[in-house]
Amino acid sequence: MKRYFIAANWKMNKTIGETKEFLDSFLPMVKDVSGTEVVLAPPFTSLDAAFQKVKGTNVQLSAQDLFWEDKGAYTGEISVAMLLDAGCRHVIIGHSERRQHFGDNDDAVNRKIKAAKKAGLGVIFCVGESLEQREAGKTFDVIRSETEKGLEGVTDENLVVAYEPIWAIGTGKTATTEQAQEVHAFIRKILEDSYGNKAGSIRIIYGGSVTPENVDSLMVCRDVDGALVGGASLKPESFSRIVNFKKEM
Ligand code: PEP
Repeated sequence: MKRYFIAANWKMNKTIGETKEFLDSFLPMVKDVSGTEVVLAPPFTSLDAAFQKVKGTNVQLSAQDLFWEDKGAYTGEISVAMLLDAGCRHVIIGHSERRQHFGDNDDAVNRKIKAAKKAGLGVIFCVGESLEQREAGKTFDVIRSETEKGLEGVTDENLVVAYEPIWAIGTGKTATTEQAQEVHAFIRKILEDSYGNKAGSIRIIYGGSVTPENVDSLMVCRDVDGALVGGASLKPESFSRIVNFKKEM
């Protein structure tokens, strides 16, 4: 039986007060969810307030990024130890917005993944092609390259891979179920080349304009094991409907 993994990526949204307000509504809506890990990635400033609300519940906390060094003169950065201390169990690494706007290249992504895993923090590792790359027929080359470089020297445990086509993030354009399944199966194959049978238990989740309207059809795809949700995770009603997706169509 699949154990789904559904994570909210709040990006640079919500103050501490808004975080608390969201959780007061959201937690009762998802308290009976079973068979799905529910994860919330608020901004760093809201982590502690979120942790005070989610501890002892079925909702886990994730950070949106980290820096690979343990401590020191790295103004503005956050270490793995700080994230664990704040109650995080996961961290998103390699999100396309970090790659595009903050210069996170494959090497940086790989270092961040290794630092997180070394300390026992679960990793939500994002890969995905741009529209230009898809139209040029380069989708599979990009996915192979990002996946292999990001995971070089990385073991399989505590790892979730998120396929996030850049053209579908925040645009309202979702990949069709066929497009999602095709790339997820391809990622599974790459993981099998590195991890053999163990690749079957690595969750490969889809991200890119997931909504209450399209989640059910995406979740029935064979190799889709969950979702990474941006815009539609900001309202408790909408994200709780996604988490409570219908397993049969
Ligand atoms: C994301 O940022 O990870 C994402 C998938 O955003 P959205 O759901 O808004 O497309």
